[in-house]
Amino acid sequence: MTFEQLELAEPILRALKKENYSRPTDIQAQAIPHVLNRRDVMGSAQTGTGKTAAFAIPILQHLERDRRYGGKRGVVNALIVTPTRELAIQIGESLTAYGHYTGIRNTVIFGGVKQGKQVEALRRGVDILVATPGRLLDLMDQGIISLSKVEYFVLDEADRMLDMGFIHDIRKIIARLPAERQSLFFSATMPDDIVSLSRKILSDPVKVAV
Ligand code: AMP
Repeated sequence: MTFEQLELAEPILRALKKENYSRPTDIQAQAIPHVLNRRDVMGSAQTGTGKTAAFAIPILQHLERDRRYGGKRGVVNALIVTPTRELAIQIGESLTAYGHYTGIRNTVIFGGVKQGKQVEALRRGVDILVATPGRLLDLMDQGIISLSKVEYFVLDEADRMLDMGFIHDIRKIIARLPAERQSLFFSATMPDDIVSLSRKILSDPVKVAV
């Protein structure tokens, strides 16, 4: 399997070459075709397997193909929620790298720092927002972020999210998402509470595991 066989847009293929990615990892080869087919995906994969690119690449491809970028102030097309600041920053860096030759903009928001710079970036317009739950809800409550136009939603490291006590925050975020959307759900482990959370988020998901 090659990235070319996944029929990715030329600007994305060029960026993957620049990153020296020669072929998709197992989780990428399994998940990317389903995401491109607009299916919801439940992915069982740990950090280090290349799962970030498994959701980042097809979302960039959708936005590029649909020309859904150049987002208005605070209105985002894609939302990626992840438990920690470190993961959020890494995901943002990956989106910037894979989207280097596209016009798609991402912004990362997390708690523990002043909100000023994050708010400025949101006001300049963002296509893909990467967020930790608390800061996301805070900026939504202040009317700075709207989820009303989210077409693509990713919940990353769901099991860690629950371990860190984010279940109520996650429920509040899900309640504000449009019903018509594509959702991707990733977790290293799949205990009962994770499976039941996934049922609230996903619609007829394809399961992939590595
Ligand atoms: P992740 O599991 O998403 O945290 O990714 C782990 C590491 O693998 C990151 O440093 C990525 O840059 C790298 N990576 C992801 N996909 C590929 C690929 N197809 N080829 C080579 N390296 C990759």
